Amino acid sequence: MNTQEIADLGPDERRALFDRDAGIESVRSDVRDIIGRVRTEGDVAVREFCREFDDVEVGNIDITDDAERAYEEIDADVREAIEDAAENIREFHEAQMPEDWREDFDGRELGRRFRPIERVGVYAPGGTAAYPSSALMGVIPAKVAGVEQVAVATPPGEPQNPITLAAIHAAGADKVYRVGGAQAIGAMAYGTEQVDRVQKIVGPGNRWVTAAKAEVQGDVAIDFLAGPSELFVLADASASPKHVASDMVAQAEHDENSPVVTVTDDADFAEEIIEEIDRQASEREREDVIRVALENDDSGVFVARSMSEGLLFAEEYAAEHLSIQAENDEELLNRIDSAGSVFLGSYTPVAAGDYASGTNHVLPTTGLAKITGGLSVDTFLRSTTVQRLDEDALDSISETITTLAEAEGLEAHAESVRKRFE
Ligand code: NAD
Repeated sequence: MNTQEIADLGPDERRALFDRDAGIESVRSDVRDIIGRVRTEGDVAVREFCREFDDVEVGNIDITDDAERAYEEIDADVREAIEDAAENIREFHEAQMPEDWREDFDGRELGRRFRPIERVGVYAPGGTAAYPSSALMGVIPAKVAGVEQVAVATPPGEPQNPITLAAIHAAGADKVYRVGGAQAIGAMAYGTEQVDRVQKIVGPGNRWVTAAKAEVQGDVAIDFLAGPSELFVLADASASPKHVASDMVAQAEHDENSPVVTVTDDADFAEEIIEEIDRQASEREREDVIRVALENDDSGVFVARSMSEGLLFAEEYAAEHLSIQAENDEELLNRIDSAGSVFLGSYTPVAAGDYASGTNHVLPTTGLAKITGGLSVDTFLRSTTVQRLDEDALDSISETITTLAEAEGLEAHAESVRKRFE
């Protein structure tokens, strides 16, 4: 890994960073085949793909009853950590719940009401690492929003990961399925013998899961594409190279396809970060994954001519996680619009939001932070507008309505207003 000046980046290098897709497009056609087979062959295809991709013989796909047992049986300290994290996540998401409202606009009483979606499917990943935390992040906001049926799909294991099962139970899920990857998304989107069809699928995953969500979108609602984790650190020389490097290494540990970037305005500081990343990576258990992620052409440590140039780079990058480790962090934050979640100050590692501070870690990747935020209670709510007009209020806008209706050639619309005044 070498440092590079932002000013020296060519169009291909910029494209690799800004149009990154974390390998998702390259698996689209495989994913289409998998989903097609699940749609036509149901559980037979699900079991076959579990054998092929996870090397597990799956009997019962529905393992809802195992979750409560796992919760009782895991180590007490892990159960307590799950409950502590769950409490913080619940608290933050309860604070987001919108209230129904109505307001009088000169006799036009207008408002919005919020109601939960009925049946939701949450994907809790678990391929190269287990993600009980993602089960909490998906299920808790759904339950806070009032979703009646929350199903969770998680890859099969031999044995099934007890901590993920325990977290699914603690979060309050209603159903649990042992199926992962594109086959899980296909099963929840279209239904199989054992997997109930849902109305919306949410949750993060690797490139197969993410490509599958893109594939079923339209037939079923999805949250957004939450693919391989990514990090953008904007740092000045006041930051600790150790802290910056530890955040880089931590996010690179997720996936070989995880893009991780630091931008700083100090070339010496950039060198220190690279040395520190190298040192820390060699001490980590998942060093292999980390090194592949760091060497990808959508990762790197870059030197900007000023923090303002770094800021523009961060805005264009629109990272899933943006960590600002700089003296004037609030000022920099004020000039950033595009990021899934922002981390400020030296005691705010991205891992805090990954697990337990309370914010949601299911966040848009591949630049989608330009158009959406992360998972929240809103993801699980529909808003309906409501209105009541009094006679004077309708009278005051009747000419506007009839003129526009007739201009559109929809004369019956105009008539429906005139009838009120005959
Ligand atoms: P995963 O559950 O996403 O994927 C495992 C599944 O991938 C397996 O069950 C298998 O079916 C499928 N698969 C693996 N190889 C395949 C192949 N060759 N062909 C077809 N299917 C195949 O678990 P993971 O792999 O550990 O990945 C978890 C991902 O979730 C990571 O990329 C992590 O960064 C990401 N994540 C993202 C966010 C976010 O909000 N963006 C949050 C947490 C985690």
